[in-house]
Amino acid sequence: MTAQPEEGPHVVVLGGGLAGVGCAHRLGDEGVRVTLVDRNDYHQFQPLLYQVATSQLPAEDIARPHRTIFREHPTVEIHTADVATIDVANRTLTLSDGDRITGTHLVIAAGARPEYFGVPGAAEHAFPLYSVADAERLRQHLQSTIHTGSESAGALDVVVVGGGPTGVEITGALTELMAALVATERISKPGTITVVDRGKKLLGAFSKKSHKYARKRLTEHGADPRLETGVAAVHADRVEFDDGSTISTRTVIWGGGESAASVVGSATGLPTGRGGRIDVRPDLGVDGHPHVYAIGDVANIPTKDGSTLPQLGSVAQQSGVWVADNILRELHGDKAKPFHYKDKGIMAMIGRNAAVAEVGKRRHQLEGPLAFAAWLGVHAMLLSGAHSKADAFMSWAWDYFDRDHAATVEWSTAPQRIAWGDDSADVPHIEVDRGHSTPSAGNN
Ligand SMILES: Cc1cc2nc3c(=O)[nH]c(=O)nc-3n(C[C@H](O)[C@H](O)[C@H](O)COP(=O)(O)OP(=O)(O)OC[C@H]3O[C@@H](n4cnc5c(N)ncnc54)[C@H](O)[C@@H]3O)c2cc1C
Repeated sequence: MTAQPEEGPHVVVLGGGLAGVGCAHRLGDEGVRVTLVDRNDYHQFQPLLYQVATSQLPAEDIARPHRTIFREHPTVEIHTADVATIDVANRTLTLSDGDRITGTHLVIAAGARPEYFGVPGAAEHAFPLYSVADAERLRQHLQSTIHTGSESAGALDVVVVGGGPTGVEITGALTELMAALVATERISKPGTITVVDRGKKLLGAFSKKSHKYARKRLTEHGADPRLETGVAAVHADRVEFDDGSTISTRTVIWGGGESAASVVGSATGLPTGRGGRIDVRPDLGVDGHPHVYAIGDVANIPTKDGSTLPQLGSVAQQSGVWVADNILRELHGDKAKPFHYKDKGIMAMIGRNAAVAEVGKRRHQLEGPLAFAAWLGVHAMLLSGAHSKADAFMSWAWDYFDRDHAATVEWSTAPQRIAWGDDSADVPHIEVDRGHSTPSAGNN
């Protein structure tokens, strides 16, 4: 199949994450013809990947089929396929089966992938946490480690690489999982969770107060923060550090960085910068390529002070809606406007009853339930584009925050779920590559 542009505008969107869905939704609302291409038939909500990896939530609760999301948008066509190459000059995507899709406008929203910075063995042996499939693969690995049962020689020990939000949040969730497994007598002794970072503090982008809070909460829950330490190599049974020491482990989780989705490398003529991401103009367009745009995690979006916006859900969603509005402006003969980001602050959920948030222009610091309330407000907004029932998420989340739900999916007869209430026939097709030798075979 080679879909050529027909009469009238046809916007091709590569990627159905928060950015791509935000864009397609807005254009669909206005009756514009859109083709949304994603290798998965579902949208995945990354902020809840930890809960999936640690058996606190089933994968299908955070993966909503694109067809369901766009059920009421007849002008949005969903195409489930892997994109092999992007031809920006002709606004054409070539799919892995050779088919091509061409639009009058092309929006690149392909997200990011884990970046291993050339650490030997990391791509082969570490578990990334970027997609629902990654989270499921890690959950299955943890489950089989626990079921095969040897608690000797640190079989349950985990090393988490990276002390940013991803590393801190998964460390918090793992300490809770271990505590729940001990409490339900599945294991007699929790594995040690070591979180490693080259820097001097956890949650480096946050304030001093939050650094201390994160370290205190994780240490209280039994984690072992190891700072000013770099990872030299990852092996199937151990991690080597740059000070010459090692930790024996079969589970290394990579939260050490990310770069642009690999499909960006297939495009010639795209201006790329930090993290291999696409440098865009303030109006989200790509210089030298009329009607081509990049948004969300795949883009370096400039700010007024000369830096770029962080890879955050709210940046992705807002840039998606903004680029759609700019396309609509262009279609009406008006000028595109520079993206204005409404900063929602930075936040991390460290575990049950433990969260930090820094909100407002002055980055007012919040901890505990107040911080969790801020987290919940921002994330319910994010979910509202992809999941219609934000209230179901709110009710699950308060329950989660308040009580001990760790391990409920795997080990209880009454798992706590988000009551999305979608048609039960409308399920995402989540495929997990079980080969442990290639845990990095993730999504992007
Ligand atoms: C573990 C984790 C936790 C996070 N927690 C938070 C949080 O608490 N709060 C927050 O604000 N942000 C959080 N983030 C960041 C936030 O989730 C991202 O910034 C946001 O989801 C990016 O959206 P996106 O649409 O740009 O990319 P993505 O959501 O990654 O979407 C990209 C899409 O493109 C598709 N795709 C890529 N390449 C191809 C190809 N070649 N062919 C076909 N399809 C392709 C992918 O399948 C994917 O669906 C977290 C991120 C991670 C990884």
